[in-house]
Amino acid sequence: MKGLGATGGAGLAYGAMSALGLAPSTAAPARTFQPLAAGDLIGKVKGSHSVVVLGGGPAGLCSAFELQKAGYKVTVLEARTRPGGRVWTARGGSEETDLSGETQKCTFSEGHFYNVGATRIPQSHITLDYCRELGVEIQGFGNQNANTFVNYQSDTSLSGQSVTYRAAKADTFGYMSELLKKATDQGALDQVLSREDKDALSEFLSDFGDLSDDGRYLGSSRRGYDSEPGAGLNFGTEKKPFAMQEVIRSGIGRNFSFDFGYDQAMMMFTPVGGMDRIYYAFQDRIGTDNIVFGAEVTSMKNVSEGVTVEYTAGGSKKSITADYAICTIPPHLVGRLQNNLPGDVLTALKAAKPSSSGKLGIEYSRRWWETEDRIYGGASNTDKDISQIMFPYDHYNSDRGVVVAYYSSGKRQEAFESLTHRQRLAKAIAEGSEIHGEKYTRDISSSFSGSWRRTKYSESAWANWAGSGGSHGGAATPEYEKLLEPVDKIYFAGDHLSNAIAWQHGALTSARDVVTHIHERVAQEA
Ligand SMILES: Cc1cc2nc3c(=O)[nH]c(=O)nc-3n(C[C@H](O)[C@H](O)[C@H](O)COP(=O)(O)OP(=O)(O)OC[C@H]3O[C@@H](n4cnc5c(N)ncnc54)[C@H](O)[C@@H]3O)c2cc1C
Repeated sequence: MKGLGATGGAGLAYGAMSALGLAPSTAAPARTFQPLAAGDLIGKVKGSHSVVVLGGGPAGLCSAFELQKAGYKVTVLEARTRPGGRVWTARGGSEETDLSGETQKCTFSEGHFYNVGATRIPQSHITLDYCRELGVEIQGFGNQNANTFVNYQSDTSLSGQSVTYRAAKADTFGYMSELLKKATDQGALDQVLSREDKDALSEFLSDFGDLSDDGRYLGSSRRGYDSEPGAGLNFGTEKKPFAMQEVIRSGIGRNFSFDFGYDQAMMMFTPVGGMDRIYYAFQDRIGTDNIVFGAEVTSMKNVSEGVTVEYTAGGSKKSITADYAICTIPPHLVGRLQNNLPGDVLTALKAAKPSSSGKLGIEYSRRWWETEDRIYGGASNTDKDISQIMFPYDHYNSDRGVVVAYYSSGKRQEAFESLTHRQRLAKAIAEGSEIHGEKYTRDISSSFSGSWRRTKYSESAWANWAGSGGSHGGAATPEYEKLLEPVDKIYFAGDHLSNAIAWQHGALTSARDVVTHIHERVAQEA
């Protein structure tokens, strides 16, 4: 044991909290993850060490992958017949029966798909590190596109009008700059800014807003052209700006801050061929012998020899006992298992409230968004129930593609949740055509939708912790802290136990934290 620590056995050291502020908790000290290695266990710690992992989503597969590196005997039990959990890519051949009993069969053309769950990865997330380690090819993902549209209701002439992001941004930034420059020049900021400060601010605003020499916003080529500039004497015709009051009152800038977010700022990435490529790569490395698909866990109990888990697979009841268990089943579903968990842990699990989100993909046999609207990736945004229309980031300039006709959450998703697929499609087309026009209704070859509240083995998009508004904001609830600690030999992991809820990164960091904890315990108990 001493040797393990002295040789710097991977994953055994407690360390400084991550620069991202992950998992600073009084209940669970931050553990610095170091990849485990064969030398950590073999020849140093007697006996074999087994771990049963409940759930083959990101947290489960990452746990299994990391533990195997040190020689743990790992068995993953996954209820679905595919890896990835809420990382679910719909492509031709995908089939799903939802909790309302409706079965959809996806008939997208060969090579075409969309991600019903996770779809993008920021540069800071360790998801990209696993792509590198597992050899999963990645490509850029457009989180903003100047050519996509905003379309919102208001009491202005811009109500219900589709405006390109580039026009909305040019006008909003232009008028804001004009107003702030005016206020500065009129002395409104004299209490806070020196003469030199004001000169520097003016210079910045002139450039930021593309202002005229006398400090006014009169329009800008940034908005785009009614007729494009071309050869010879074709100078093009710039689009005229909207009126200042209309721009301000219509709120066309309401979504500009989306990609200012730490997790949403460009560049963003995604695996070539669908997000689920990551989890098929995990599966290949873990080995299908060590993963039981179609294994629905029904019971999880601490027993004297470790943890006994019962499950059904292939119509029969089975059971497995291991030294430790890592439960990555979504928290609101764990209480349904037969268990001997203490009452306060069951109460804590109930505090993670399920949420609604869903998407619908339409395959078009013509890429009208490229040929007519000059849109290559990114999303149009609206205050209609569809919330946004996401354009494909793959197969550019080919003859067909899958558009995500809505990606909505919360109340707006509830408007789709109780509908049949056909009804969802009809509503999505009706709302989408108000944004992109009549062409939106034509050349549709197939469609497929997913609603996470109605999806078996998830029944939620992501966890909302009671009282924390969906994210911890630096303050953990007592229930959250409770689940960071093991119940004897049972550990909990998943994105709900991280500060990156609704991100794979959260599930992966949670898995690493638990793996580190188990490995440290094994070392200490040896
Ligand atoms: C709409 C949507 C959009 C998202 N967008 C992004 C994004 O763009 N980028 C990003 O990084 N993340 C995104 N996410 C989040 C990401 O999908 C999750 O953070 C991640 O899947 C969480 O992994 P997990 O292992 O904690 O849970 P899950 O993925 O839910 O895995 C849990 C596993 O447990 C299994 N299970 C459940 N019950 C049982 C049982 N009784 N027996 C056996 N197995 C069981 C499930 O089948 C599942 O495989 C999105 C999620 C959603 C829903």
